[in-house]
Amino acid sequence: MFPIVKNKISFVEAPDRGRFPYAHSLFIDDDVKVLIDTSCGKNYIDYFLNHNIDIIINSHFHEDHIMNNYQFPQAEIWAHSLDAPAIRSEEIFADYYGFRYFNEEKMGKMFFDWTGAKCSPVHREIIHGQILDFGKTKIQVLHTPGHTPGHCCFLIEDNILFSSDIEMSSFGPWYGHLCSDLDEYIKSIKYCMEINPSLIISSHRGYIKDDIQKRMHNYLNIIYQKEERLLSSLKQPMTLDQLTELMIFHGPIKNFNRLFRLWEKMAVFIHLKRLLASGEVKQVDDYYYLR
Ligand SMILES: [Zn+2]
Repeated sequence: MFPIVKNKISFVEAPDRGRFPYAHSLFIDDDVKVLIDTSCGKNYIDYFLNHNIDIIINSHFHEDHIMNNYQFPQAEIWAHSLDAPAIRSEEIFADYYGFRYFNEEKMGKMFFDWTGAKCSPVHREIIHGQILDFGKTKIQVLHTPGHTPGHCCFLIEDNILFSSDIEMSSFGPWYGHLCSDLDEYIKSIKYCMEINPSLIISSHRGYIKDDIQKRMHNYLNIIYQKEERLLSSLKQPMTLDQLTELMIFHGPIKNFNRLFRLWEKMAVFIHLKRLLASGEVKQVDDYYYLR
C-alpha cells in the first residue's frame, strides 16, 4: 500500500505534500510494527488504527509530529528524553515554545487547541546512537538538536536519513521558539552533511535524492543570511520589538498577525542569544547594538 523505502520500511505520504500541520511518516511493518510521527492524515491514521501499531516514535515534540499519538493508547510511545516532557504536558509544551516567557500564555493555549494535537505519555526515552531493533529492521537514533532540544533523525542502513524537521525547505530552518538553539541547529545540519546520505526523507519535503550536499549547504546558509541582515540592522541600537518589525526571519508577509509576530520575535531572540554569546552584539537595557 505504501511505497517501500527499504525492505520493511515504507514512506507514508501525508496530505497536502506534507505541509504543516501534516508531516510525512515512516511505517515499519516488521515483527514489531512501528510508526514514526503521527500527523500523516486521517485516512492513514484510520488504516494504522486497524493494523496494531506496537510503537510510535516521535522525532520531536511538535504538534505536527505527535498529532495523533492519543489515538493509539495500546502503543508504546518513544521520544528523546529532552523532548519527552513537552509531549507529556501541555504546560511544558507551551513553555518550550516560549508562550509564557513572552507573556502570551492565552495565545499558546489557543494555538495548541487549534492544532487539534493532544499530549500523550512517553514510555521510553531514546538516546543518540541507539540502534532500535524491530526484527529484520534496525534503525539508528541520531540526536540532532537545535530545532527542538530533543529533535532526532533516524538512519537506515548507513545511507538513508529520515531527517524530520531538518526538512530542507527553501524557507530554511525553523527556530521560532524559545527552546531552539542556533549553534546546535548549525551543528546538527553539518552532522547530517557529514553522514553524506544518498537519500533524505524529510517530514515536510519527502524524498530528496538530488544535489543533497548542495541543498543542505543552501539550507544551512539561510541561517547565516538572516543573521547577516540582523547584524546590518544593528548598526544603530534597536530593541527586540523594533527588530521584530523588520521581518528578517519570515520575510515580508501580508498578514503579520499576532502569532506570526510572536514567532518572528522569538526567532530574532534566538539569533540575538547566539550573537550575545559570541560577543558580536551587546545589550544595554532593552537595546541591542554591535560591539
Ligand atoms: Zn518541528
